[in-house]
Amino acid sequence: MAFESLTDKLQNVFKNLRSKGRLTQEDVKAALKEVKLALLEADVSFKVVKQFIKTVEERAIGQDVLQSLTPGQTVIKIVNEEMVHLMGSDTTEISLKPGSEITIIMMIGLQGAGKTTTTAKIAGKLKSKGKKPLLAACDIYRPAAIKQLQINGEKQGVDVFSMGEGHKPVNIAKAAVEHAAKNGCNVVILDTAGRLHVDEDMMNELVEIKENVEIHQTILVVDAMTGQDAVNVAGMFEEKIGVDGVILTKLDGDTRGGAALSIRAVTGRPILYVGMGEKLSDLEQFYPDRMASRILGMGDILTLIEKAQVDIDEDKAKEMEKKLKKAQFGFDDYLESMSQMKKMGGFGEILKMLPGMGGSQVNLDMIDEKALGKTEAIILSMTPTERTNPDVLNPARKRRIAVGAGVDISEVNKLVKQFEQARKMMKQMPGMMGGGLGGMMGK
Ligand code: GDP
Repeated sequence: MAFESLTDKLQNVFKNLRSKGRLTQEDVKAALKEVKLALLEADVSFKVVKQFIKTVEERAIGQDVLQSLTPGQTVIKIVNEEMVHLMGSDTTEISLKPGSEITIIMMIGLQGAGKTTTTAKIAGKLKSKGKKPLLAACDIYRPAAIKQLQINGEKQGVDVFSMGEGHKPVNIAKAAVEHAAKNGCNVVILDTAGRLHVDEDMMNELVEIKENVEIHQTILVVDAMTGQDAVNVAGMFEEKIGVDGVILTKLDGDTRGGAALSIRAVTGRPILYVGMGEKLSDLEQFYPDRMASRILGMGDILTLIEKAQVDIDEDKAKEMEKKLKKAQFGFDDYLESMSQMKKMGGFGEILKMLPGMGGSQVNLDMIDEKALGKTEAIILSMTPTERTNPDVLNPARKRRIAVGAGVDISEVNKLVKQFEQARKMMKQMPGMMGGGLGGMMGK
């Protein structure tokens, strides 16, 4: 997962800060020096880091902060606020023309950044907002790119306009806009050709399209894994072509995070969305505040809730919450809550979004998804009474269950222990593990 190492380091700095009752200027300076190093190691642009630390230091060393009852907490709050600010504070939407007026979006970026995939992802988002997008294949150099766009367009249920390879991109773009007008499409997304590096031909081609077609939004796609390079490339595109917004792809990988933190400050352009995987649904709106929380290891509860709202069966969640309150939560419910969590991207994904769990300290043993099959076999070998009333599980019963599930008795013991742990955890966190999600969402 992205930011892991940065989050770990920042959490360590914060732990030290919190553990001190009073803070001196030197304490703050020393902590910020560590923050600075962590950000530089995460590949955040040097200029950005310098300015960031300066701002935080000025605010943190103010009299009120150091005199406050919880100075450590206040310093962390300032770091958080400045990080949100660094990434643009507010969420920026793609600006669209109203009603049937056609919005023309040009997607640009280097080859391999994820442009074609992201074009289709965006089309899906716009379609779900009631728009009728048309994708236009303007990458005439790679026949595979045209095919890829057609396949992805089909998957998203949106039309794809292409003229093959024998035409100039600018003419394809013009023809696509005419096609859209004739067919009632109200957004045209141009998938342009990238190159391995920024070169003049590519830039000229984009300029030519921009000069001849009324582009309303130019969206730059950059690969977060390329760190500082992504930021430099973004700067060049902004200078030569002009960019309205950036989409940062591959944030699901183990990128160090520098690009997400630097792009806005370096280019002055906001991040609109982030790519979180290869699937066409893996595109998330970019919320600077949530991203800062994730980076600082404070969890991203809001995104988790949104995921839950999409994936969780509301009735089941309510029912489980009731059981939990009455302490009737049994093994059947445990199995159910595990499969619900799996739907939300797996335990690992969920735990990373929980406050204080962003780092690697999570006991992955307990949440090993591969063990789910074995767990299921064990639970299904229990009698209904054992499943609803785990307290009756004596050694003889456990032995019988182990034989039934084809596992060693130690596995059964382990599961019972995990179940008890989970039950405890659910009680402590009214809001997690399927059961409490209903309550947490205010349903
Ligand atoms: P283009 O050359 O810029 O059009 O790039 P493509 O759309 O062909 O994408 C290049 C590769 O990156 C493909 O294998 C995509 O599946 C992959 N990709 C795109 N976006 C993401 C993302 O957000 N996460 C991950 N893991 N892979 C991505």
